[in-house]
Amino acid sequence: MQHTVTLIPGDGSGPEVIAAAKKVVEATGVNIQWEVAHAGAAMIEACGTPLPEETIASIRKNGVALKGPVTTPVGTGFRSVNVAMRKTFDLYANVRPAITYPGTLSRYDNVDIVVIRENTEDLYAGIEHMIGDVAAESIKLITRKGCERIIRYAFEYAKREGRKKVTAVHKANIMKCTDGLFLEVAKEIAKEYPEIQFDDSIVDAMCMRLVMNPEKYDVLVCPNLYGDIVSDLCAGLVGGLGLTPSANIGETGAIFEPIHGSAPDIAGQHKINPTAAILSAAMMLAHLGETEAAEKIRAAVSKVIHTGDVLTQDMGGSASTEEFADAVIAAL
Ligand code: NAD
Repeated sequence: MQHTVTLIPGDGSGPEVIAAAKKVVEATGVNIQWEVAHAGAAMIEACGTPLPEETIASIRKNGVALKGPVTTPVGTGFRSVNVAMRKTFDLYANVRPAITYPGTLSRYDNVDIVVIRENTEDLYAGIEHMIGDVAAESIKLITRKGCERIIRYAFEYAKREGRKKVTAVHKANIMKCTDGLFLEVAKEIAKEYPEIQFDDSIVDAMCMRLVMNPEKYDVLVCPNLYGDIVSDLCAGLVGGLGLTPSANIGETGAIFEPIHGSAPDIAGQHKINPTAAILSAAMMLAHLGETEAAEKIRAAVSKVIHTGDVLTQDMGGSASTEEFADAVIAAL
């Protein structure tokens, strides 16, 4: 079966990791027609917007995209292309697995955590303004519907993937309305899934517990901001940003991307680790029903990292992005 997928290289180091991931997917033999589309700062000059209509139309038509990271200016300039895409397609579930691959520089050897981050609400709704020049205000918007669908997604994910426990992460002791609503809905929905253990944790304590005993955690479901932070913490537990993939899932579309940014400090140097992008592509293949190819990629990545002969610098080696991808292809 042929699949058509929108391919967004991104900017900075994005095109390097996306080229590597594309090559690995092609080596599995899965029949994919790539439709290349662009987003990011370079598009402003060409199209007057960082997220051109053609790119939106391509994702809408194909329903699936593999995307490289896109630079977002800090403080001023255009709003995040990523946030805009997630809002445009209502990609409410951000799925971020952090799994130990023996052979990385991680200090832990048994982490297997999936962070499920709400992707459309919370402080990321961007409802903020200046109050004169003396203060600034941001509104944390959390809806019952938003809580229900992300928490249900987390439980359904746990059920489907054979996972045992869901932990809701919040700060309901302080934000009694917003995070209080998230926790209340989590407790309600947990009752519908008696076969899955449920507990909850305040976000600060969660961070400490993750560093001390990550093996005790399974699926974490978080409002947007905590999910962003906690998933980077989990990436640190398994060896860094170069290793962690993600999926942004909605009812009508899905965008797969590494969780790391555009890494401008190493762009063009052929030393960025493409593992996160390759594993994002594996998540994409699983979503397309190509589970065998997805598993083959994961096994090949695991083998290359475990063997340890061809590793990028962040994993303690000296291989280039392309050499690592070629080693994965050889191991397929
Ligand atoms: P970053 O993830 O780009 O980089 C942080 C550090 O980790 C850098 O030193 C970088 O070299 C290193 N690093 C990241 N990925 C790596 C990899 N695969 N292999 C080896 N080293 C890696 O974070 P940042 O510097 O805070 O952000 C840069 C830009 O990316 C910003 O404009 C930010 O807004 C954007 N960003 C985009 C996305 C996205 O498109 N989904 C996500 C996060 C950040």
